[in-house]
Amino acid sequence: MAKGKYILHHCAHCDRDARMELVGSTEQHPDRSWYRCTRCRHVSLLNVEELRREVEEAKKKLDRADAEEYTPEKTYRVGEAIFHSDWDDLGKIISKERTSGGGSAIVVSFEKIGERRLLETVVTKDDAVE
Ligand SMILES: [Zn+2]
Repeated sequence: MAKGKYILHHCAHCDRDARMELVGSTEQHPDRSWYRCTRCRHVSLLNVEELRREVEEAKKKLDRADAEEYTPEKTYRVGEAIFHSDWDDLGKIISKERTSGGGSAIVVSFEKIGERRLLETVVTKDDAVE
């Protein structure tokens, strides 16, 4: 038997945060279970593992102290938090891309300004001959 019989979840049916009661599982989706909303009695098929991860992600509010200050010369990892001083905004790197010029870019989801693409691993050619 699974750990919790009840979970707290935002019920899409009555559009409220509700206690959902575990009512059963399904053969086709071993990672999901049926939960009944204790408010509207609507039954939903939920992936508890996924929900738990989402809750944990949401709880992880970005912290300036954990964020790396963005400079184009650095190389970043997906999932890393960065701080952009010009925009005074914290963001999380959600993916990486190749630029058309063969460079590397990070896609960052910023808290205030939303999604932005920024260059990374930019090589500054100090000794380049013009
Ligand atoms: Zn409901």
